[in-house]
This record gives sequence, C-alpha cells and structure tokens, in this order.
Amino acid sequence: MALLDRTSTLDPISEKIDAGERLDFEDGLTLLESDDLLGLGELADRARRLRGGTDDVFFVQNLYLNQTNVCRVKCKFCAFAATQKQAHAYTISTEELVEDAVRQRELTGFTEIHMVNGENPHVPFAFYVDTVRALHEALPDVHLKMYTASEIHHMTKLSGLSHEEVLRELKAAGLGSLPGGGAEIFADRVRQLVAPGKEHPDFWFATHDAAHRMGIPTHCTMLYGHVETYEERVDHILRLRSQQDASGGFLAFIPLAFHPENTVFERRGFRHTTGVDDLKMLAFSRLMLDNIPNIKAYWIMMGMPLAAVALHFGANDVQGTVMREAIFHAAGARTETEQKIEQLVRYVREAGRTPVQRDTLYNEIRRWDP
Ligand code: SF4
Repeated sequence: MALLDRTSTLDPISEKIDAGERLDFEDGLTLLESDDLLGLGELADRARRLRGGTDDVFFVQNLYLNQTNVCRVKCKFCAFAATQKQAHAYTISTEELVEDAVRQRELTGFTEIHMVNGENPHVPFAFYVDTVRALHEALPDVHLKMYTASEIHHMTKLSGLSHEEVLRELKAAGLGSLPGGGAEIFADRVRQLVAPGKEHPDFWFATHDAAHRMGIPTHCTMLYGHVETYEERVDHILRLRSQQDASGGFLAFIPLAFHPENTVFERRGFRHTTGVDDLKMLAFSRLMLDNIPNIKAYWIMMGMPLAAVALHFGANDVQGTVMREAIFHAAGARTETEQKIEQLVRYVREAGRTPVQRDTLYNEIRRWDP
C-alpha cells in the first residue's frame, strides 16, 4: 500500500523538487496526508541536497536562561508561566542573572545565550535594555539571542515605543538576534482557542520584518500537534515562506511539538505527538520552505535518538547543548536538559553525518571529520 501511495501522491511532488519548482498549498496538504513516511524522508533529504545542503549537521554551544516566568497572557498550552502571586513565580535581577551567566561561562565556554521570558507586566522596558547591556558588557563575545516577537510587542506596550524603536534600543545595548517563539499557529481560529490573550500574528510578522530590515537575524517556529488542522499547518508555513521572500532574515525554522502536560489540554485528554508526526513535520518543513536554509530537529522535545533519525528527514541542525531548558520540561518533556558536545557528536556521526559546531550565525567553529 505504501508503494501505491508513493506512486499516486508523492511522485508529482518529486518531479517538482527535481525541477526546482516551488511547492504550493495542495502539495503541502498532500505531504501531510501521506502515510509514506520513508518516501517523505527520502524526498526531503533529496530537496535539502539539491538546494546546496551537504553532510554537515550543525549545533551551537549555548545556555538557556529565563529571567522571569511571570506572564500576563495565559496561553492555554503553557505550563511555564505564573502570575505574580503564585508561589513558583520568579523574576531574577539583572545582577544575579549576569553573575550566574558569567559563572556558567567559566564552566562551559558557550557562545550563545538564548533567553525568553513571560510577559511580565511588573517590570519596565528599562529592565530588558539593562539586562541586554549588562550581559553584553560582561560577556562581549557571547551572542545574545533574546526575546520572542511577542515579548518585543509586550515591550512596545511597556514603553510606548514602536517595534522598530524597541529593537533599535535593544540592538544598541547588544542584542544579536531574536528566537522564533510566539508564532504558535497563525490561523485566527487556532489562536482564539489556544492563545486568546496573545497579540494578533500581524505583530509577530511586523516585528520580524522590522528586525530583518535593521540587520537583526531571527528564527521562526510552529507549535504543532494540538487543535490545528493540516490546512492550518500549511497556511502557517506559507506565511513564513512569504515573509522570508520579502525580508530574508530567518536563519532557521524550528517545528515545535506540543507538550500537553500541566496544561488544560492534558485534562482534555491530549497526548504528546508521535514520532511519526514529528518526522513528517520535519520533512514537510524542508520541502515547503525552499528559502530558509536550516531546519532544526529540536532534541529537547523529540529526544536525541529521534533527532538523529530526523537528519534523514530534511533536518540539518540539532540546536545545541541547551543547558537548563525549562519551558518544554514544565510541559512534560522527559528529555535531558543538557547535551554534552561529545554526545551530540556521537549521535550525529552515527547518523552518518558530519558534526559541525557553529556560532549563532552559522559560522563554523569546529568540525569533526568522519
Ligand atoms: S507561552 Fe509565553 S506568552 Fe503564553 S502564557 Fe506562556 S510565557 Fe506567557
């Protein structure tokens, strides 16, 4: 049956890939509806190579920080956020955060800090600018990848500044790039169901567009595996592809599998995505996003063994060492919170690929030849 399916549904897409043609909405649906998992992997890997991909698989040595979990938004899929009055709410001072980061740097030599937070209404915009500046002064050779587009939008509310003005101040203080969170699923229907308190997706795009135009690279994501349809996944990916056509500053796309634990969705019986859906999403992303060079297999949510398999489904990046991941682990991720470089290298090599340690901007730092 799988062979029949391949013949009838993936072959026209395969021909388009070989001809260098762009896939459309219907093709996207066909990919997601296919049950020919190995056929999808083969196609995605071929597309990756035809578009210039090699055997190199990237990772970065990074430190994850969350300065505050206090958040006003109350997304229904979120197990990380707290209100100010809850016992587990925290807001770390800039001094304490910097001291901790400097201490960690002496231990591990990371090249990137990745920090996202709750949208805390109890701190001023200066709190964010001061934090970026203090981290940059203390660790000038560390790339600061900080604040989702939703947080940037929140800062416009705190400060009365435009998105461009907020980004300009943060960039002047030392911000290097933006992570891709806050995208969730762009379709209004889904947004209303899972994140009714979050700003309209137009602001997400306006923030990334402004960042790209002022030379701040960014990342993009999709949180899948909850109430969205396949049509809404395709719509999401096509909106990202259009934005990349227009402004060109996305470094990588990261599909994020929904984790239901400790959220209202757990009580409603939602389960973790399956490995099949995770691999299918990676292949689908690689095939549709012909203009975003890097697709990440995010081992934090899929585990390193499956992330290594995903390298044959279009992925070319396994994120990084990620010390102290908190957000997916609050929602039930059972993966490690840190991968040592030796472990990442081992998994990548066993997948038949070449491990390459990169900086945030994909400059090579070190390579492990086969
Ligand atoms: S996902 Fe982000 S914005 Fe939504 S509740 Fe959690 S911390 Fe707040």
